[in-house]
Amino acid sequence: MPTYDLVITDARLRGRAQPCSIGIADGTISAIADAALEGTAVIDAGGQLVTPSFVDAHLHLDKVYTFARIGDAALREYADAGMGGAMTSIELASQVKADYTEDAIVGNARRAVLDGLRHGVTHVQAFADVDTAAGLEGVKALLRLRAEVADVVRLDVVAFPQDGLLRDPGAEDLVRQAMDLGADVVGGIPWIEHDDEAARQHVDRMCGLAAERGTRVAMLVDDAGDPGLRTTGMLARAAIEHGLHGRVVACHARAIGSYPEPAFRRLLGLAREAGMGFVSDPHTGPLNLRPYDVRAAGLAVALGQDDIEDAYYPFGRHSLLEVAFLAAHLLGAPTLERMDALLDMVTTDAARVLGVEDHTVAVRSVADLVVLDGGTTQEVLTRHAPPRHVISRGRPVAQSAPQQSRLHQ
Ligand SMILES: [Zn+2]
Repeated sequence: MPTYDLVITDARLRGRAQPCSIGIADGTISAIADAALEGTAVIDAGGQLVTPSFVDAHLHLDKVYTFARIGDAALREYADAGMGGAMTSIELASQVKADYTEDAIVGNARRAVLDGLRHGVTHVQAFADVDTAAGLEGVKALLRLRAEVADVVRLDVVAFPQDGLLRDPGAEDLVRQAMDLGADVVGGIPWIEHDDEAARQHVDRMCGLAAERGTRVAMLVDDAGDPGLRTTGMLARAAIEHGLHGRVVACHARAIGSYPEPAFRRLLGLAREAGMGFVSDPHTGPLNLRPYDVRAAGLAVALGQDDIEDAYYPFGRHSLLEVAFLAAHLLGAPTLERMDALLDMVTTDAARVLGVEDHTVAVRSVADLVVLDGGTTQEVLTRHAPPRHVISRGRPVAQSAPQQSRLHQ
């Protein structure tokens, strides 16, 4: 019998009745068996659920832990019921860039990534503002951190022109420079431009840049309370025209949740043609893109952490189970079927959104796994506790004790 580098025993897998053993060799899942396996190292899962590790498809990693510097003003504008002040909140939040230096950003971002790792997050699509106020400090900081954590966490750095392209002359050139420095993904935020024509140019230029460089695209689209916003469709259309099928992600897209039904369905058709993925963040804003319906239409939908203690959201532990738990409440009846969907949205489906292949518990997949605290999806979401074990590329990288209380005698 072969000896594996690591064996996880008594593991419960979704969709498999009996607990099993998982054999890992050279960072890859090599066996899943009912019988016991031999391992150099052994983790006893104790009948708890084992799933692929968590994938955070959308995080403003350059702005984490800045809430105390901005206070309530931006939050009030962004999260008011109609989201009419979303643009104002972005302007208020930009105060943080007054002392936006590479060193300060790296320190905060590192803390957030390590907090994520403790919560089982091994992949992050990390946005760095690139604009004439921020310059390239955020991108440089996140690229430095990307190299530092490369053995355990995959950071995809997005060059994100937060203040627009046409509204902020000079930003486009900075995005190009950010890609030259090694950023992974071309960003965008077309809805913030002054009219639809400018938004269309914004989308077209950034998709053109991605096609030229052979990269992916991730944009913040339709992130305000205006059902007339149409930049999600513009992004899908541009993806088709620039040959970016399957390489484009639409984040937020909150306005499409209030589209008339025919417009919503037309958009889904176009998104399917473009192979576009979606990221929703129900806990950071009052409007949402109807994640369950988008998913039911066959499109990949992820949930993202979005913000951690910044101008837009005062909480966040970089726990995607917490994000899924909050979404379960915010998106309507938390049925068992929906709980399963939510767990997919922070693991397998989130990986599909980012173009990460084979992020599954299956033989030949990369061994990025979590041993969760709970034996069923319902238990896991109820507790939304840090995983008992986090395994990145076959190596145990974090461990948490099950939560217990003891009375004093
Ligand atoms: Zn966001």
